[in-house]
Order: sequence, then structure tokens, then C-alpha cells
Amino acid sequence: MRFLPVFLDLQSGPVLLVGAGELARAKLRLLAAAGARIRWYATDGQHDVSGLDAADVARIELAEGDPLAADLNGAIAILCAGAGEIGPAMSARAKAVGVPVNVMDDLSHSTFIFPAIVDRGDVVVAIGTGGASPVVARRIRERIEAILPARIGELASFIGTWRKHIHGRIPEMPLRRRFWERVIDGPIGALVLAGRSDDAQAALTKISDPSAFAGVQGGLPEGHVALVGAGPGDPDLLTLKALRALQDADVVFYDELVSPEILDRARRDAARVPVGRRAGQPGIGQDAINALLIEAARSGQRAVRLKGGDPFVFGRGGEEVEALREAGIAYSIVPGITAGLGAAAQFEVPLTFRHEALRITFLTAHKAKDADVVDWSALTDEKMTVVVYMGMTAARSVRDGLLAAGRSPQTPVGVFARATRPDAQAAVGTLDELPGLIEKIDGGPAVLIIGDVVAHSAPWRSSTLTQLASYFQVAAE
Ligand code: SAH
Repeated sequence: MRFLPVFLDLQSGPVLLVGAGELARAKLRLLAAAGARIRWYATDGQHDVSGLDAADVARIELAEGDPLAADLNGAIAILCAGAGEIGPAMSARAKAVGVPVNVMDDLSHSTFIFPAIVDRGDVVVAIGTGGASPVVARRIRERIEAILPARIGELASFIGTWRKHIHGRIPEMPLRRRFWERVIDGPIGALVLAGRSDDAQAALTKISDPSAFAGVQGGLPEGHVALVGAGPGDPDLLTLKALRALQDADVVFYDELVSPEILDRARRDAARVPVGRRAGQPGIGQDAINALLIEAARSGQRAVRLKGGDPFVFGRGGEEVEALREAGIAYSIVPGITAGLGAAAQFEVPLTFRHEALRITFLTAHKAKDADVVDWSALTDEKMTVVVYMGMTAARSVRDGLLAAGRSPQTPVGVFARATRPDAQAAVGTLDELPGLIEKIDGGPAVLIIGDVVAHSAPWRSSTLTQLASYFQVAAE
């Protein structure tokens, strides 16, 4: 992020607009809508303010003379739109005195840029692409326009009029936040959004004890733990529920598998606590994690336990649930897309296939000794797809176990690493070749998928796949 979105108070001083023509007039309209005082240097000498209403025109000073000699003292910002050669020169002056400057369509001479804007009164959404693509920004704006209720700005100002009063009645911040959430998400918010602000006003006045309305017990809000599946890595694969839990969280306890892009979706002021293993270092241990979750909930926080994939697939979610039950903590479980499904989707391996694969087994083989205790004879069914988690180190034992039990050495096998992440990688071959395939992968996490269905996997995903797809064609002939 090079440009931080901030909201300028345009009423605290004049804004200098330098330029002419339709470009300058577009900026005039924008500034006028924000209630700015504008000092306009028309570089073509034509101050055309037709089409603006009288109140706006009254705030526009039609400046004469050379803008390069203008007094910049007290100016909030300088905008150059349709200013031609004067733009860069103006920019140099502005920079010299530390006034923010924008030269339209000229990043190198601008110290700030204009976002695409969704304007709903007090609610303003700014969308930026760092100047890279206004079209992308506009598309995003259209989507946001479509999902934001028309009266969302009224809701914000309604709350604004009550804030101070409620602050006095509920001094504790977490409780106050919960109070407002109840107002916004409940019938009072619905009244405002339906255009019935007077009724909403009456309803809010009637709440005699706001902290009771916030749902308090013994002065502290109820804590809660959500066990949330973060999916295999691509943040777009979070469920809507997962996203909501992240947005509501006071604290997020996350695994090493959770990508920074996903963590970015958490509420900005939520505390983020890593509890996974890091680069060869052991984690803090399951008991310590359980204790942290319980402690967070007991102190009234909304905790999210964020895990790669799904919490109940090799994620020790079951143990956490037991600990929470025992401690009498309220909890919920939000499923996630498990790595095997993410890999299958990305590399186009249909885990079941009519007549070909009728069963799926998910298993883990963390260490060779884990592989030794697997009953491989249960996995020799040709119509079964086997998905192995944590199987990179034990790949040789997995192969040996399956071969010894009688599964064909020609069974197609895929190693799918970092699935759904930008650096995803795959190697496909036969069961026989499995240890060699692991060598071709530049590190995990990876799932192994074993079964005829792997032959359907899309060959264009990696060069290894391309080679092996042609191998499969040759083998099929
Ligand atoms: N609860 C997780 C699994 C945790 S066990 C889930 O449901 O996905 C950790 C193992 O998951 C890794 O060793 C690897 O086998 C697999 N894994 C996690 N993320 C992965 C990814 N993006 N691509 C491939 N495998 C992944």
C-alpha cells in the first residue's frame, strides 16, 4: 500500500484548483459537494461556473493572475486538472511548502490521489488502486453501491447524535461496541434504514438500561470462541461466516498455515496471536492453546481460533471443543474448505468419478512411523481415492505400504503443494514414482492424492504436469 486513504476536512481552509475545461469543472463539482472553499485559477482565463448551484458558487473564489505566484499559506490541498504544463511546476511549489498536491493523471507529480467514491452522506467509501487502474476501482465501487443500503449514511448520523449520551451511560468500550451492534443489527437499525428515524429515535429513548440491552452478565459481556476454518490459503475461499467471525473478533489465535492475506481480513484492531509451529520451532502446545481460548472468553472477548483448512480435518478442533465444553464457554464452529478439496479443485482432480472412484479416504501420515501403523490393506480398493495430509516426509513409507498391500504401482499419484496460493505447485506421476515426485516440489504444505482420478488432473498447471500428462496419454495408447 503506497497511498493511505485518509479523509480531509475541506472546510478547514481553501483548496486551490488550477486548470481549465471539463476536467477542472469535474473537480469543482466534487469539491463543491464536499463543502470546500475553492480558490480557482482558470488557466484559460475562463471561469465557467454554470450548472453549479448558487450556494456552491458562493464558496468559489475566482482567482486571477499567475497560479505559480499564488499564496499557498493555509491551503489544504492543491489540485491541478487540465492545467497542462503548469501542473508539474505547481507540484514542485506545493512540495516545497509541504501542501498536498494532485496533478491529474500524473502520479509522479502527485502526493495524493483521488479514490473512487461511494457517497452516502456520513458514510463515504474510498476505493483506491494506487493509481494502477481506475476501471478496477470503478467496478469495485459499483459492487459496493449495490450492497450498501441507501440510508446507511442516515444510520451513521443517527448513531452520531447518540454517541456521547451512550458513552456516558456505558463507559466500558467492549460493552458499548456490543450495544451499538445490537442497535445497528436489530429493529432500531432496521427502522432507520426504512426511513423511520423518528420511530427509531423513540425506540432508543425507551431503552432505560443500555448496558442490559447490550446483553451483559455481571458487568462483563459474554465471551465466545469461534473455531473457524480459514480454507487452504486463497482468502476468497473463506466462507461468509468465517469472514463475519473475523470481522467481529477481539482476538485471533492463528496457525502457521494461515496466510497473511487471510489474517488481513480480521477486524483491524483485533489482537493477532500466533499459536502454531514456526519454522521448525514447536508450537505452544494444545493445552496452552486451550487455556488461552478459555481465558480470552472468560475475560469477555470474542475469540477466533483460526485454522488452515477445516477445523475438524486434522486440525485438533475436536480437542478444543471438548476443553471449551468442559469450561462452560460458549463456542461455535465455522467449517472451512479443507486442503484436499482446495487442491482437487485447483488441479482439477475429481475426487469421485462415476464408475472409477466411489470412495474417498482422508488420512494423515506425519512421520514414517505413522505410516507404519496405517492399515494399508484397507486402501487397496482401486475405486478409492486416497488423500494424504502431512505426507511429504513419509511419502516413501506411504508408497511402500500401499504397494506391499497390493495397490498397483501404476496408480496415478499427485503431489499438490501450496494449493490455492499464488505459488501453488504440482507433480503428477505413478505410485511407484512417489518419492521422486516429492523431490520436484519446492516445499509444503502439500497433499498427496492417490487414485485413478489423478489422471484427469489438468495438465497446464505446471510444467511437471504437462510432461506427465503426455506420459499418461502415451500410457493410455
Ligand atoms: N485442517 C487442515 C489440515 C491441517 S494438517 C485442513 O483441513 O486442510 C496440515 C496439512 O494440511 C499439511 O501438512 C498439508 O498436507 C495440508 N495442507 C494445508 N494447506 C495446504 C495447501 N494449501 N496445499 C496443500 N496441502 C495443504
